[in-house]
Amino acid sequence: MKIICIGRNYREHAKELNNPVPEKPVFFMKPDTALLQKNNPFFYPDFSNEVHYETEIVLKINRNGKHIEERFAHKYFDEIGIGIDFTARDLQAEQKKKGLPWEIAKAFDGAAPVGKFVSTSRYPDIHNLHFSLKINGELRQSGTTTDMMFSFEKIIAYVSQFISLKMGDLIFTGTPSGVGPTKIGDHFEAFIEDEKLLEFNVK
Ligand code: MG
Repeated sequence: MKIICIGRNYREHAKELNNPVPEKPVFFMKPDTALLQKNNPFFYPDFSNEVHYETEIVLKINRNGKHIEERFAHKYFDEIGIGIDFTARDLQAEQKKKGLPWEIAKAFDGAAPVGKFVSTSRYPDIHNLHFSLKINGELRQSGTTTDMMFSFEKIIAYVSQFISLKMGDLIFTGTPSGVGPTKIGDHFEAFIEDEKLLEFNVK
């Protein structure tokens, strides 16, 4: 499986990092070794002093496809979850300055914690979903999918023009504003609506 991540999909987040608001989705990938499941702890990497959390709705692809049309894209996922796109912001800043790829800052082991996946059918409208992150019991990030610049369906249509999607692939769909640093000892809890779907410690 592969993990595809969308960058700069919420206007306020693009602004907080002084990035231009994109005309097309921006995407990058994380390898399967980045996946962190079952609420296992995240081990803070020793190569960074500034690991940031980015809380994101994650789609689980349920069938294979390429060149998927936007109007059919909803057939390619029926479960969603919540995940953290951990980013070594200090390394990413260096890469951005030099115009180099981001993998060193985004693809490291454990950089993609994901929680329990749930059926999309339990939500009246997945385009109007509230999601949030608490660290040590304190609200740190909160967003709604209505603020996405590129919808789940647009993302699937766009990415599948370049890369075939396969059953089991995950798509991180971008973070709202409020990203920030984490540290050893933090306790993460992430929610879709009021339901906690992900919880882990930073060690
Ligand atoms: Mg992100």
